[in-house]
Amino acid sequence: MLIGVPKEIKTHENRVGLTPASVRELIVHGHQVIVEKNAGLAIDLNDSCYQTAGAEIVDTFQEIYSRAELIVKVKEPQQAEFQYLREGQILFTYLHLAPDPAQAEGLIDSGCVAIAYETVTDKYGGLPLLAPMSEVAGRMSIQAGAHALEMDQGGRGMLLGGVSGVPSAKVVVIGGGVVGTNAARVAMGMEAHVTVLDKSIHRLQQLDLQYSSRINTVFSTVDAIEEYVSMADLVIGAVLVPGAATPRLVGRELVKKMNRGSVLVDVAIDQGGCFATSRSTTLADPMYILDDVVHYCVANMPGAVARTSTFALNNVTLPFVLSIADKGCRKALIDDPHLRDGLNVYQGQLTYPAVAHDLNIRY
Ligand code: NAD
Repeated sequence: MLIGVPKEIKTHENRVGLTPASVRELIVHGHQVIVEKNAGLAIDLNDSCYQTAGAEIVDTFQEIYSRAELIVKVKEPQQAEFQYLREGQILFTYLHLAPDPAQAEGLIDSGCVAIAYETVTDKYGGLPLLAPMSEVAGRMSIQAGAHALEMDQGGRGMLLGGVSGVPSAKVVVIGGGVVGTNAARVAMGMEAHVTVLDKSIHRLQQLDLQYSSRINTVFSTVDAIEEYVSMADLVIGAVLVPGAATPRLVGRELVKKMNRGSVLVDVAIDQGGCFATSRSTTLADPMYILDDVVHYCVANMPGAVARTSTFALNNVTLPFVLSIADKGCRKALIDDPHLRDGLNVYQGQLTYPAVAHDLNIRY
């Protein structure tokens, strides 16, 4: 199969669909790969790395779209790209179609087969192509929070781990899933005092078994959230209720009760956020202060560490890319119900019920 990797054109997006190592795997499997010039340059994956791996470098994204049978990307296609997608061409990338009717229309009109990373499932009921980005965001949230606690950012002037004779900072993580576990892990590594609140007793049991006395696990209730958030130096919002908007677990009155200069990092902002005072920010201008509390609410945190994120993403997407290329799209979809869960658009037809419902389109 001929596989194409365009350079991402969405603002501030520096990740790339395939690493040179992934290209080499595809070449070893007997496929051909074309990569747009400078597609990985920003993260130090230059064209010669791709050529060494066996790819052909082409000058324009138009050439990628016109020649490739399978397009592997990171972000959803932008307006400039829709017109080049064609009937039967396979698109494998993050799509997030539900809030994006223009993109849904573009994909339907093109006749392409669009498989969304974010809806591919695994046998445990998880979303394996989302998980690595949650790992990245969870780990980063503590880095971001530690920075925000510094004086010149408006923070309390606290070091997460304290020093001899001075207590460490209190970090409260709401939601102990992938983001929350990774946040807790890094916070523990920095010797903060860590509490994780979750609604799932099973999740709390797992965390308790894994980290024993190094972590404080608490069942999440209105009372518990009030008690722990009001005393916290740094709170990480890491809640997800599948298929629903993030619940606003921390109201404005509670934010006002927090110490001056404490920090809220709302990782769940991409689903609406779990603090009443959160509003989406960008990597270029990530923080603001409201009610004397520093807020960090970046919706695409993995973009800040595009190199790590690219490798993490490739580790999980490559097996599916190989399956599509080796078997052909139709057989790969028939053989694998988890890949099939990723199918959002099939040759002019929306095929993902939740997206169709949100967009009010027949499927
Ligand atoms: P996850 O499903 O692994 O974990 C979510 C956890 O929230 C679960 O353990 C669940 O039991 C818990 N939860 C649900 N309701 C709760 C409540 N009332 N109180 C406490 N806990 C509750 O999800 P995840 O992968 O960790 O993702 C968490 C959020 O981070 C999602 O909204 C995701 O979209 C977002 N995210 C954001 C970025 C970013 O760049 N901002 C990157 C990755 C993920």
